[in-house]
Amino acid sequence: MENNNLPENESLNETTIDNVEGFEGLGLAPEILEAVKAAGYETPSPIQAKAIPALLQGKNLLGTAQTGTGKTAAFALPLLSRIEFNGKDTSLLVLTPTRELSIQVAEAIQQYAMKLPKVHVVPVYGGQDIAVQFKALKRAANVIVATPGRLIDHLKRGSVTLDKVQAVVLDEADEMLDMGFMEDVETILSKIPKNAQRALFSATMPKEVLEIIDEHLGEYSEARIEGKTTTVENIRQRFLLVKSHDKMEALARVIEGEDFDGMLIFVRTKQATSEVSERLEARGFNVAPLSGDLAQTLRERTINRLKMGKLDIVVATDVAARGIDVDRITHVVNYDIPYDTESYVHRIGRTGRAGRSGNAILFITPRERRLLKTIEKATRQPIEAMALPSAEQISAKRVANFQKKIQDKLANANLDKFREILMKMTVELGTNVEDIAAAALCMAQEREPLFPKMEQLSTPKVKDNGDRDDMPEKPRKERKEGANGVEEGYLRYYLAVGRRDHVSPRDIVGAIAGEADISSAIIGRIKLFDKFSTVELPDNTDQSVLDILSEMTIRGNDAKFRLMTDDAPPPKERKSFKSKKDFGKKPKGKEKTFREFHGDKPFRKTRRFGRH
Ligand code: AMP
Repeated sequence: MENNNLPENESLNETTIDNVEGFEGLGLAPEILEAVKAAGYETPSPIQAKAIPALLQGKNLLGTAQTGTGKTAAFALPLLSRIEFNGKDTSLLVLTPTRELSIQVAEAIQQYAMKLPKVHVVPVYGGQDIAVQFKALKRAANVIVATPGRLIDHLKRGSVTLDKVQAVVLDEADEMLDMGFMEDVETILSKIPKNAQRALFSATMPKEVLEIIDEHLGEYSEARIEGKTTTVENIRQRFLLVKSHDKMEALARVIEGEDFDGMLIFVRTKQATSEVSERLEARGFNVAPLSGDLAQTLRERTINRLKMGKLDIVVATDVAARGIDVDRITHVVNYDIPYDTESYVHRIGRTGRAGRSGNAILFITPRERRLLKTIEKATRQPIEAMALPSAEQISAKRVANFQKKIQDKLANANLDKFREILMKMTVELGTNVEDIAAAALCMAQEREPLFPKMEQLSTPKVKDNGDRDDMPEKPRKERKEGANGVEEGYLRYYLAVGRRDHVSPRDIVGAIAGEADISSAIIGRIKLFDKFSTVELPDNTDQSVLDILSEMTIRGNDAKFRLMTDDAPPPKERKSFKSKKDFGKKPKGKEKTFREFHGDKPFRKTRRFGRH
């Protein structure tokens, strides 16, 4: 295959935030530029700077980039600019590995297309009622963002046609193929017009991705982000794994828990600078925003106030924080992850100035975990996992601060009048000074309680051994079998599809991981029979996940996913089971086991899937 990769000297490695201009010079359509402005993006991220011109020229593209690098806009902005939408046909197709990503990408594309009335974006994913999707697809689906399994269902039912597609994007191709969607992806690509523009994004390039590239990408340009390695020895780097919707609460706790002098918090957009700053201010922090939107004089004033100690916290975008040199900054918090390692290094370099030591804290959402490893590699330093301070730790800090304020007052204020009142109160209330002081203390802490009640944030798990993938608690080979033949810590579920439906274990893993957006690594043993199959899942699997799976289809068949208990046995076959204890035991008398009753031999190889 011929490959018109861009020459090495044009590689993205040279791109830093200092030499990237705004979006204006890239050649995007005016409607798209308006949407970019409304989104508050100041400069293109490195992958955008590279991918946008190539895609605008109609080239196919191979993008090596992870979530968090701005890759959605990297393909959506140029393709929306370039494609001629007629308001009827499906002109752009994006394939994503998971339900969550398909919704997220669909929302982003709809946002970028806000000024294009003929563009209606429909996410199509497993787990949602297919009838709801029929309706949405019937109305108009000019852009479809789909998981492969569900899209195949729609293609079979004729609710989607792909013969007018002008561009197709494979997002997170490695994840998609890892989940067992290879065959589905190939089927889908075979239905796309030959002359359609193609883009493939993948963080890694395993064999299956290379095969797809080879067979389906044709000639292509390449956009790659490879960070230079840099050292940042005097900076202590930590990360906090946090769900997106918990970030604000986590930030407030981190600020309270850390001993800091000045703090710089990085966010991605101008809007976020004011949002985060306002919400911190409402919680009583001494904070101001800093973005390219502010007049130069105001920006300088803010930085000066930070220098002088009149401000403690500044919330900034990369552009606005360029060149900030304030010795007082002891902490840099990456509230939004930077796009690449260079901007990470650039950001954390705002602390640890003048030979001092600094602290860098990185917020990572579960989907961004891969970026963490890239940063560690580039900075050649491990980034420690950090825990949020507990309610007790925050309480101890608040008490200490309170005590310090009292000490200051005792030293500096004239308290005579207050002593007089205190004496009078002891007489009138018939109590002692100690009780009155305790009551006054109680009143004084009402706005900022000394014993805060703190909601438990569900921080995603990080294992001590540094493995941050969604791996099961125990390594696979140590898993033990329980009395009923199901692996310890797992429950067995029934699926109404089997070999006669041409279902393979891969299809099952792909469907479960894809529909419920869970890692394939947590899926336990799968057994295939002729008419049905079984799968083991961790016994602590979230009910929301089980709900999604209960509506799952596998290869176009309703999977009728359900727990194998006596309350809900599979149809007829399971009637011999009396209780959970009996499950898997030799039958007594005439009772038969599930297997014997069904007269079906289990699939010989019991396969486990996932990353090892
Ligand atoms: P993605 O890598 O596509 O998942 O994007 C990660 C996040 O970065 C999303 O929240 C985007 O809204 C945001 N984003 C993408 N491009 C830019 C940009 N040029 N400036 C600021 N934020 C951006």
